[in-house]
Amino acid sequence: MTCVRLILGDQLDATHTWFSRPDADVVYVMMEMRQETDYVLHHAQKVIAFFAAMRRFAELLQMRGHRVRYLTIDDAQNRQRLDDNLNVVLSELGATRFQYQVADEYRLDAQLLDYARSAPVPVDRIESEHFFTHRGRVREIFGSTRRWRLEQFYRRMRIEHEILTDADGRPTGGRWNFDAANRKPWRGDPPEPPDARPSHDHQTLWSTIQGGGIATFGSPHAERFRWPLDREESLKVLSQFVEHSLRYFGDFQDAMHSRAPRLFHSQLSFALNTKMIHPREVVSAALDALRAGQAPLNAVEGFVRQILGWREFVRGVYWAQMPAYAENNFFEHRRPLPHWFWNGETHMQCLHTCITQSLDQAYAHHIQRLMIIGNFALIAGLDPGEVHRWYLGIYIDAVEWVEMPNTLGLSQFADGGLLASKPYVAASAYIHRMSDYCSRCAYKRAELTGPRACPFNSLYWSFLSQNRRRLGGNPRLALAYKLMGAWSSERLQSIEGQADRIRNHLDDL
Ligand code: FAD
Ligand code: SF4
Repeated sequence: MTCVRLILGDQLDATHTWFSRPDADVVYVMMEMRQETDYVLHHAQKVIAFFAAMRRFAELLQMRGHRVRYLTIDDAQNRQRLDDNLNVVLSELGATRFQYQVADEYRLDAQLLDYARSAPVPVDRIESEHFFTHRGRVREIFGSTRRWRLEQFYRRMRIEHEILTDADGRPTGGRWNFDAANRKPWRGDPPEPPDARPSHDHQTLWSTIQGGGIATFGSPHAERFRWPLDREESLKVLSQFVEHSLRYFGDFQDAMHSRAPRLFHSQLSFALNTKMIHPREVVSAALDALRAGQAPLNAVEGFVRQILGWREFVRGVYWAQMPAYAENNFFEHRRPLPHWFWNGETHMQCLHTCITQSLDQAYAHHIQRLMIIGNFALIAGLDPGEVHRWYLGIYIDAVEWVEMPNTLGLSQFADGGLLASKPYVAASAYIHRMSDYCSRCAYKRAELTGPRACPFNSLYWSFLSQNRRRLGGNPRLALAYKLMGAWSSERLQSIEGQADRIRNHLDDL
């Protein structure tokens, strides 16, 4: 009797009940595959990180006495597709049973369900044990209502999991939300803590990836590779974050600075999304810091909201809405990405900084993703499908269940407001308030029209003007529409003219 158990590249959870004790009748199978490297163009660091973490996980299992069959990307037996490889491995090992953990991406879930229907042996589908709640929970709560809101879901999660609530289910500190306190710009004080991530030499792995002809973009930095690649390293990054950054996380959550790419963010998303650490232990560490007086409530609540709230919420939205969600394009935007999305070469300092940083580090924090890159993509009218594929490729943490609702829903409003209460758009005033980018920009932030005027300004007003029918009734945009209502038609025409010229020459910005 041999049971073959599949471990996908984002299922590196050493604490899963599967691994509680070795069993001579069980063989764990892991595969590096072209089907996974090629479904979108990935950042070089993303490919290295997944393969390196998978290899480390396989070693760890073997050290603990488990049997492992690992197919490297250059293994002669590797058929490079999941179903083909499974057929080979099941037959080679004389398997009598096949088990897999529920896949988090729709693409892989469908492929595995399909495989199970005609598999040569009986198949079991096992829970991954990773999340706070099950993937149908968001649908259960919102059902057929038109507006699915994080706040409602998050409060339910807080009460159900007894996190930051008192015995009566009221929020700790009397409020559910400290967002208003969490919008400070950062001007250099307190200093950004040193980068606490480990460093690895993965030049050999990078040569193998290149040798196999896998197309990537962005800097590999293989000789000094900075992402945590196993549970122990991930826990160290977590404890360093709690010690040095968490206390400032709330205050500077929305701040951006050209000299401080991380600021007080945790950089735990890769560790979380590969399941090397559990969201429950990350939340527990933050709650311990609150109890110990190491971090204030606005910081801890802000951080918990990202993990217990946003992360679980977007997963539920994804599973309730797929596969149709991928096709959403509420504003019918069709423009291709300008070339500088792939090299950062634009004179707009904010976009130059955020895209160059993303290409160099496979990382940008939330506000850079949402309010600089995503904001521009939306007001410039870029095709949300292309924007989605770019985000899915470039970030180290990009797996579709979390990336797609963030990109199409939160950032591009392509679902028409199912997930977000308004489009996240802003002109230069916001970017100037929250960053130092404008002070070093070739464009003039205070100008609306003219050759050196900041492109965000006319694009922002033109976007609102052109979508008055769709957005005019949104109370969160009432002030902007009221302001615009007082403008002369000449002023509006000149803004539209400027925005048109910009949209028609995006490559030149
Ligand atoms: P921190 O700011 O330290 O936050 C802590 C943790 O909270 C993160 O590690 C992450 O697990 C979770 N989190 C924070 N915000 C969100 C959110 N909006 N949705 C879900 N989880 C969240 N996150 C991904 O993990 N993968 C993606 O592919 C991804 N794509 C995004 C695309 C766009 C357009 C936007 C606007 C956001 C995206 N996010 C994505 C959410 C968020 O930007 C990243 O999780 C965060 O920047 C990761 O950095 P960090 O670990 O330093 O996060
Ligand atoms: Fe960005 Fe405009 Fe500021 Fe330049 S002036 S950094 S383009 S917001």
